[in-house]
Amino acid sequence: MTAPLDVLVVGAGPTGLALAAQLRSYGTGFRIVDRSLDRVRESRALAIQPRTLEMLAGYGVTDELVARGNPAVQLRMHLSRRVVRVPLFDIGCRDTAYPFLLFLSQAETERVLAEHLAGRGVTVERGTEVLGLERQGEHVICRLRGSGGTEETVRARYVVGCDGAHSTVRVQAGIDFAGHAYPQTFLLADLEVDGLETGAAHSYVTAAGLVFFFPLVSPATWRMLTMRPPDAPAGQVTQALLQEIVDRCVGDRLVLRDPVWMTDFRLHKRGAARYRAGPFFLAGDAAHIHSPAGAQGMNTGIQDALNLGWKLVYVCQGTAPENLLETYEAERAPVGRGVLRLTDRAFTVAMSTNPAIRAARTHIAPRLAPLLLRARSLRGWGFRTVGELAIHYRRSPVSSAGSRAPWRGPRAGDRLPDLPRGLQARTAGPGYGLLLAGPPSLWPGERVAALLDGRDGLVTVHRLGGDSPWPDIAHGLVRPDGYLGYVARGTDLTGLRTYLDRWLPV
Ligand SMILES: Cc1cc2nc3c(=O)[nH]c(=O)nc-3n(C[C@H](O)[C@H](O)[C@H](O)COP(=O)(O)OP(=O)(O)OC[C@H]3O[C@@H](n4cnc5c(N)ncnc54)[C@H](O)[C@@H]3O)c2cc1C
Repeated sequence: MTAPLDVLVVGAGPTGLALAAQLRSYGTGFRIVDRSLDRVRESRALAIQPRTLEMLAGYGVTDELVARGNPAVQLRMHLSRRVVRVPLFDIGCRDTAYPFLLFLSQAETERVLAEHLAGRGVTVERGTEVLGLERQGEHVICRLRGSGGTEETVRARYVVGCDGAHSTVRVQAGIDFAGHAYPQTFLLADLEVDGLETGAAHSYVTAAGLVFFFPLVSPATWRMLTMRPPDAPAGQVTQALLQEIVDRCVGDRLVLRDPVWMTDFRLHKRGAARYRAGPFFLAGDAAHIHSPAGAQGMNTGIQDALNLGWKLVYVCQGTAPENLLETYEAERAPVGRGVLRLTDRAFTVAMSTNPAIRAARTHIAPRLAPLLLRARSLRGWGFRTVGELAIHYRRSPVSSAGSRAPWRGPRAGDRLPDLPRGLQARTAGPGYGLLLAGPPSLWPGERVAALLDGRDGLVTVHRLGGDSPWPDIAHGLVRPDGYLGYVARGTDLTGLRTYLDRWLPV
């Protein structure tokens, strides 16, 4: 048997690929395997949220995603008598370089991530399936079967299940995945539509049913999403059935043609009871599945991965204590539960057949929506929530404020905002960043050097002067994933020293 791996990543969907990108940036010993021979070619997840773009920017992936995607999409809500235009970009979020929902198919997102890895010498081992996992002392014995049918046994210190809704890792780790399926069957197609204004997403919420069209760059111009009507026969999805639904809900002004992918599916709402069991971790769809309302699924998975990877690296390197890994579940399980709640509410309102909710949807919402959308602050709040910019870890054991927290500005556990613009790029990892705000004379080199003594290469010092997110004189420690671990007002570094001694001991 060969030398043990630090990490085995199971699954090369967006979650596993993002984790691999982070592990690679630290040079950790890992392998990434996926049982399917090829990556996803279907569009699946359609949109990348601002926070995901921010987090991937540190790995040099975001520019390529933005270049291939469409950041200027508007939503057209087709109500009974009018059309409401809702911009999905430029809505007053000053603290991000990505104030938009980027439309890009999952196939393209995975392609960009896979090319990024290939460019850094990482091979995704396709056609390699994890058959069994067994704990043995400090390691996990992983039984793999390669594409030629040969079996191999690998020892790994940690195994991360990025292996989707039917996760083998989750089953082998004995973690429950409770929840339920929604009763409706959904129909989905990537196709061409004549008569639909391009460059926008379209929603038709009518008494006869719901139809959505989302712009894709490839493999077709449009993604259509609707529900199978109760009177429609079960079975294969056909263009004729989709056209019939469109005619019923929209009228006969839209003509569907040239479908490249048509499918039906049931949606589930399920969450893993734990995100970690000993050496096993779950991320992405292996940990949470839900409706696509709000385009949260793939994004939450990528952010799970980027929360976990650096923690694994530091623990494997012996740089951080083992209990840093406990903060993964402490931070990400509440986010997963929040996404399940948010998407469930949105879905219930959108799909309910309850007469009162239906009436509200088709008669009250059309009157209310334009008024609500005019309120810029409300739109901004909605955008930050859906854009995952509002996620914070303030209650995490690894978030700590000094005895004197700054009066204003980001708190311990918050994401470091990109304000002033360029701050995120300037302080991006790998490694921690020490942020020193206020006149440089307040931060003599020898004091800073004494604080970081023995932590060479682990913390980069950023003297921000007045170009800081805090109006006060302050200091903070930004984690490798762009969240603030520690924040304090003033120049007394005692609290930060205690923090470093705990989480980055010499
Ligand atoms: C039809 C459809 C439409 C969707 N639409 C949207 C949408 O509009 N918006 C949105 O946000 N999300 C959408 N999703 C969900 C989105 O695709 C997922 O959230 C996302 O793919 C999750 O990524 P992941 O990497 O966690 O898991 P996956 O993408 O499922 O990847 C898991 C990988 O693990 C591999 N694997 C599984 N078991 C093993 C094993 N034992 N050994 C080795 N490899 C294994 C699989 O081959 C797979 O490649 C859609 C999904 C589907 C199916």
